Amino acid sequence: MKRFLLASLCLAVSAPIFAQRPEAKPDPPVEKWTGKIIMLIGAHADDDALSHGTLAMLQAHGNQVFVVTLTTGNVGTQDPNLSRMQLATIRRSEELSALAELGIPADHYINLGYDDGLLEFEDRKAVVENLVRWIRKLRPTVLMAWDPGRNYQRWHKSDHRAAAYLAADAARAAMWRLLFEGQITQEGLKEYMVPEYLFYNDYDHDDENTWVDISDYVEKKVNAFSKYVSQYGPGWKNYKTSLSEAEVKQLKEDARTHVRMKDGKPMEGFRYYKGLPDALGK
Ligand SMILES: [Zn+2]
Repeated sequence: MKRFLLASLCLAVSAPIFAQRPEAKPDPPVEKWTGKIIMLIGAHADDDALSHGTLAMLQAHGNQVFVVTLTTGNVGTQDPNLSRMQLATIRRSEELSALAELGIPADHYINLGYDDGLLEFEDRKAVVENLVRWIRKLRPTVLMAWDPGRNYQRWHKSDHRAAAYLAADAARAAMWRLLFEGQITQEGLKEYMVPEYLFYNDYDHDDENTWVDISDYVEKKVNAFSKYVSQYGPGWKNYKTSLSEAEVKQLKEDARTHVRMKDGKPMEGFRYYKGLPDALGK
């Protein structure tokens, strides 16, 4: 039965109807997108910060933006006095504050509750099934995720590496009716193929083919960044619920220095892909 299913999948993807070539650039450009459903999958509350200018712009332009975070972020601190539970609560509230700065409503934030730092050791099938459920529910026009790599498997630190492949694998699985078919027969969902992708990276930007001008959204990006008090600035080693005015100012200045510039404009870069999920690494 399993062998038959796999054979069917292989046959189906080699049929000419799926023989699309990936497009290198979004058309229309991201700055003109409207009416789309955007789903960003990250490992931690703040992975989306790399794309905050773009997310704020998309939200302002009449798209619906959803952020799905796989872990609670319950390990990321150097403060010896914080417990896992405390940190998970703090990070959720920081993320909601950051998204509010971008105009993204709280009910568009979905946290799947896995433990920080150990994502790659979770039951992959269960995590993919969970993500597939959300893809089939939200039916995103555009999936944003850590870049799993183009023509090779990209190295990221552990949770980011896992999140990249889990997102790619979930995007692929979501389109097959007979994969996780209980979601369709029992939960009222329907299979779905994500048509477009924007992949983000933190250090290595070699594969980027799309730059988004975030000139009008830098302030929102900087303000959102300043909400991650437990992750940056003095709160990383010694968390406190609120920072002084000077500390907030410093955090914002730090954020501003990390805004990437291209052709004299503040930009965020992505690898855009359009087509069958099978080929998103090609
Ligand atoms: Zn992260």
